[in-house]
Amino acid sequence: TGVPMPQNEPVKEYRAGSPERQALRQALQEAKRVEKELPMVINGKPIETGKRIRVVPPHEHKHTLGYLHEGDASHVTQAIDAALAARTAWAETSWEHRASIFLKAADLIAGPYRAKLNAATMLGQSKNVYQAEIDSACELIDFLRFNVHYMTEIYSEQPYSPPGVWNRLEYRALEGFVFALTPFNFTAIAGNLPTSAALMGNVVVWKPAYTQAYAAQVIMEILQESGLPDGVINLIYVDGPEAGDVIFKHPDFAGIHFTGSTGVFQTIWKEIGNNIGTYKTYPRIVGETGGKDYILVHPTANVTEAVVAMVRGAFEYQGQKCSAASRAYIPASLWPAIQEGVKTELARQKMGSVEDFTCLFNAVIDERSFKKLAAYIDQAKADGATIVAGGNYSSEEGYFVEPTIIQVNDPKYRTMCDELFGPVLSVYVYDDEAIDDVIELIDTTSPYALTGAILAKDRYAIETLTKKLTNTAGNFYINDKPTGAVVGQQPFGGARASGTNDKAGSALNLLRWVSVRTIKETL
Ligand code: GLU
Repeated sequence: TGVPMPQNEPVKEYRAGSPERQALRQALQEAKRVEKELPMVINGKPIETGKRIRVVPPHEHKHTLGYLHEGDASHVTQAIDAALAARTAWAETSWEHRASIFLKAADLIAGPYRAKLNAATMLGQSKNVYQAEIDSACELIDFLRFNVHYMTEIYSEQPYSPPGVWNRLEYRALEGFVFALTPFNFTAIAGNLPTSAALMGNVVVWKPAYTQAYAAQVIMEILQESGLPDGVINLIYVDGPEAGDVIFKHPDFAGIHFTGSTGVFQTIWKEIGNNIGTYKTYPRIVGETGGKDYILVHPTANVTEAVVAMVRGAFEYQGQKCSAASRAYIPASLWPAIQEGVKTELARQKMGSVEDFTCLFNAVIDERSFKKLAAYIDQAKADGATIVAGGNYSSEEGYFVEPTIIQVNDPKYRTMCDELFGPVLSVYVYDDEAIDDVIELIDTTSPYALTGAILAKDRYAIETLTKKLTNTAGNFYINDKPTGAVVGQQPFGGARASGTNDKAGSALNLLRWVSVRTIKETL
């Protein structure tokens, strides 16, 4: 019984003249032709409050994609009420029927909605076609299909029963509602956080990042078309603290599924702690937060591989993946060749609108992020760091920051420690003999432990580094870039200040959304 392990959704290439490119072009045009109203969706009904907030493409901020409708505390209460009203029927719906809804959603994304969802991600989040294909369409399809498989594996896990006794585990939904708080950077994560909890029988209040509202709307549309009953997932746009004030004081708050900043997650955790006596159950707290992800190049590494890992690992999607490399440690012996390589590669790549498919680099998400990055770059220049590549920025048309490599003298300089969440890679060049110091630096420079990559050919070096860096990353890569985890292949999540490490896209994550009743029956 159960649902067999699926295969990863094949990634389409969008070559010139291909049908998928044509469909996508049409979807892009359509999205730009009409300004869309982006309502909240509570109990299956669109809620337009008239408090409209403009949604723009980050690479073309004078254009308006649409307006999201912001609500207030009363809408949060409505969303919770709708979720709780749907709860019993949903929790009692058999897993086969829950599965079929999410499998259908996966099929809709793979087929008729693929272009629309990709176009929404490209325009709303300034993500190029290839990255959008990978992590809005394919990764969300994979999350949905693999989660169904993992769910059935979890349910089939049953204890031993001696003669005369029937022992069983009943995998119940949590008693209450789950709050999904999702980030702008991955449409797949925005889709996965509410649906994974819902798949396990939970009802959800979902608050996406405002900067992801355009794609969130498409996800909601897909879920409704898949047959998701009203009230099971309720989409709200409400200011964070105002929403939190209602949610974290509610006795039926049963868990949070979060991806976002470490600061926000810690504030939420404290708030939950302060209210712990008011809840019916101990809430499940599941979060993926910040990172200061590293690339360590060993003197035995292959230079070309190191260059590719740095350029792709640090700069794809403008460095706005939690997993993106933002600090690199390079041996002095290889630095001249690697520096040459990254400069050449960056000079070959274009930055611009997502509608120009030849642009590998696009804009950062918003003005706030743009200003923060510009300030860090300027400060680094003033502090005498070497700008190896990039270093320019402009917000005239869109929020463009060049892929920037900063060579620092002090391995604890602020760009080596702080999470910038943008296309800025800091490089510290180390003396080839001083690899042990570098291990120490990686371990102690930042409080995070999300991803890390080592590049080395020497087998003893690989073994030693893997061992000594054991606590520095939840996802560790050997001879590869530290980004691009694939559902079903590399379950994703970080430790330390990077999160609770409940691996997205795995049974470990889904287990957080069940509350098991052990039943012993004497026969
Ligand atoms: N799973 C993504 C990756 O491996 C990163 C997810 C995130 O940024 O939160 O690149």
